[in-house]
Amino acid sequence: MSSITEDNDIEQHGGGGERVGVSMSKKEESECTSCEQNNVDIITEGIDRVAIDDTSKCASCGKEGKSDDMNTCNKCKIAKYCNAACKKKHRSKHKKACERRVAELHDEALFKEIEPKECPICLLTLPLGSNTLTFHTCCGKTICNGCTYEMKMSEGKDLCAFCRMPPATSNEDCIQRVKRLMDKGNGDGFYQLAWYYSEGSKGLTQDYQKANELFLKAGELGCAVAYHNLGVLYRDGLGVEVDKKKAKHFNELAAIGGDIHSRHNIGCIEWKAGNYDRAIKHLIIAARAGSKRSLDTVKLGYEHGIVTKDEYASTLRAYHERQQEMKNDARDIAALLL
Ligand SMILES: [Zn+2]
Ligand SMILES: [Zn+2]
Ligand SMILES: [Zn+2]
Ligand SMILES: [Zn+2]
Repeated sequence: MSSITEDNDIEQHGGGGERVGVSMSKKEESECTSCEQNNVDIITEGIDRVAIDDTSKCASCGKEGKSDDMNTCNKCKIAKYCNAACKKKHRSKHKKACERRVAELHDEALFKEIEPKECPICLLTLPLGSNTLTFHTCCGKTICNGCTYEMKMSEGKDLCAFCRMPPATSNEDCIQRVKRLMDKGNGDGFYQLAWYYSEGSKGLTQDYQKANELFLKAGELGCAVAYHNLGVLYRDGLGVEVDKKKAKHFNELAAIGGDIHSRHNIGCIEWKAGNYDRAIKHLIIAARAGSKRSLDTVKLGYEHGIVTKDEYASTLRAYHERQQEMKNDARDIAALLL
């Protein structure tokens, strides 16, 4: 069973024109392998953590101590020790339990529903796809094309529907605007400049290394799609050595940050690896957030008996609800006209 759809072409999407469809653009794709899941190197089995007031028992010798003063396992952050010697001594015994806990923590963070983002003007859930929304370098807002269309209709000209600024007048103007956003710590601003470097647009020379650094910074500032792009760059060795582990790691960070395409892709990767349980979990999350491709793959899972009827039905329902939340008349007209 392997006929699932995962595009493999690189596609960075994101920023084209001066007001560009940014975040949440790109399509599903990507590929990577297993993440360098915190290589756990430490301690014990019996992590009995006695939570009576704020004292704990040393996981190695059992001696009680004040929790704050104790030496905590830096992997699982649960096992406590009276000192570094106890910690070291306990290392081989603790290893298994610690790894298990780290994996659980990793999964708790990973398998989260995707929070919808909304248009700051109409307050409806932002649509998916770079051709349905626009990032504005003037104010750093991502606005649905329905609102952009309505602004155009009411003003007779092209103004930002949020701050009413006209579009940038030149490449220099555009880059200055982006730099102003970056000065304010706006992750989408970093993303934007990274995108220009990765494309060699706006009068800049193509420079993947610079793009990489800026995508990383953008990701750290909460721009999930920047992590997705880093995943692509590591997968394909653009400006970096090919590194499948890092590619997967960045895809996971993107998925945790709400990037639906990375979520779909991780689902496909798990599927291909035969990890159907994990695959289905990812694909259901992406489908519920509106990914048609993920929904189709969940359906395939249902047809193959690895998704139950109830799971499929509730996924389908959530998918349609999300589609409804993203729809309005202005957006429909804008899709035809803009
Ligand atoms: Zn001890
Ligand atoms: Zn531990
Ligand atoms: Zn809107
Ligand atoms: Zn604006």
